Amino acid sequence: MPTFDADVIVIGAGSMGSAVLWRLATRGADVLGIDRFEPGHDRGSGHGESRMIRTAYFEHPSYVPLVQASWRLWRELERATGTDLLTRTGALMLGPPGGPLVKGALAAAAEHRLPHTVLDRAALAERFPQHPLDPGEVGVFEPEAGVLRPEAAIRAMADAATAAGARLATDRVVEAIEPSEAGVVVHSGGRELTARYAVVCAGAWTPQLLPQLRQLLRVERQVPMWFPATNPGDYAPARFPVFVRELADGFVYGVPAMDGRTVKLGRHHGGVITTADTVDRTVQATDIEALAPVVRRLLPGLDPDPVRAAVCLYTNSPDGHFVVGALPGWPNLTLVSACSGHGFKFAPAIGEVVADLVLDGRTDYPIGLFDPARLLA
Ligand SMILES: Cc1cc2nc3c(=O)[nH]c(=O)nc-3n(C[C@H](O)[C@H](O)[C@H](O)COP(=O)(O)OP(=O)(O)OC[C@H]3O[C@@H](n4cnc5c(N)ncnc54)[C@H](O)[C@@H]3O)c2cc1C
Repeated sequence: MPTFDADVIVIGAGSMGSAVLWRLATRGADVLGIDRFEPGHDRGSGHGESRMIRTAYFEHPSYVPLVQASWRLWRELERATGTDLLTRTGALMLGPPGGPLVKGALAAAAEHRLPHTVLDRAALAERFPQHPLDPGEVGVFEPEAGVLRPEAAIRAMADAATAAGARLATDRVVEAIEPSEAGVVVHSGGRELTARYAVVCAGAWTPQLLPQLRQLLRVERQVPMWFPATNPGDYAPARFPVFVRELADGFVYGVPAMDGRTVKLGRHHGGVITTADTVDRTVQATDIEALAPVVRRLLPGLDPDPVRAAVCLYTNSPDGHFVVGALPGWPNLTLVSACSGHGFKFAPAIGEVVADLVLDGRTDYPIGLFDPARLLA
């Protein structure tokens, strides 16, 4: 029997990697995580104070069982670590009734019998007057939605992983991974670490680490911003659900005033294509110009001058669905990537999926949409 430095090495302990470490360690695996930064850092995709969690998933109904598992696991993590990570606010999907947002949310709600309410313009004006709709637009309200605190959640998953026996090496860069006869070899800081299995959760650095994906994955710069509310009470989590709104030129999303003063807004996509190492991390006037007119027109209760902003990264697959599973021809390596700007909410369920794949060779979760082979065929 070969001896390894760890049974499983997880490369990247950010949003997905910390979840994979947590779920593998909880199931007794001998697991080592390696990250170039400390958990909860602000250089990748898992920072910016808030992440939405929604259940009536407009992107595809097959995500629903995964988000339902994640709700359960986020609550388990809160109990295990004594942290407050998830606030339930409900969600509003706003837009034309025939558009992908409203139609997709209703399809997911119908397929999985999820509680929801369709609100026409008048009903929405009564219940959520913060959002004046255009004629013909509608809203879908679903109660099973809310806000996650990403930095605290990543730290909590890393803490829960180490408490369950995982080892975590930070301030360490993995330069390369290669297959070996018995498993994998991970090159880091002049050392060669061996494992039976590797899981790559490198987020926006994935195209650099796995050159076969360089032409397929696109890293996109995103700049959400915080806008002060004239009457902050109207935008409190209990009165202002998270929302996504479909506009003629794309989707805008928002999160209630978690700090009691400001509402976070962002455009979903439409950012500059970049790389994790060369991205412009300063906020430009063009970033503000992309959002301020939306605030003026759609959210008149907010001041269109943002008080702060965060530069963050999406890693996009060509079809917008995640990439989770073994790379073709490389059964000892599982890739978790390209969460295409909507992955955070699923982190603990993806951790479970990977634990299933690594320890049992299969999973009951519906992950057919995420097969890496669809990109590399
Ligand atoms: C502005 C913005 C808003 C978003 N909003 C939402 C939302 O509302 N809801 C939602 O569900 N999702 C949302 N997302 C998406 C979600 O945050 C991402 O899908 C998720 O964070 C991706 O996680 P990850 O683990 O792939 O990347 P990361 O969390 O960035 O983790 C990658 C880790 O790998 C490490 N790493 C990389 N390469 C190496 C290496 N060679 N050696 C060592 N370590 C390495 C990095 O240091 C990093 O810690 C949003 C994303 C952004 C940018």
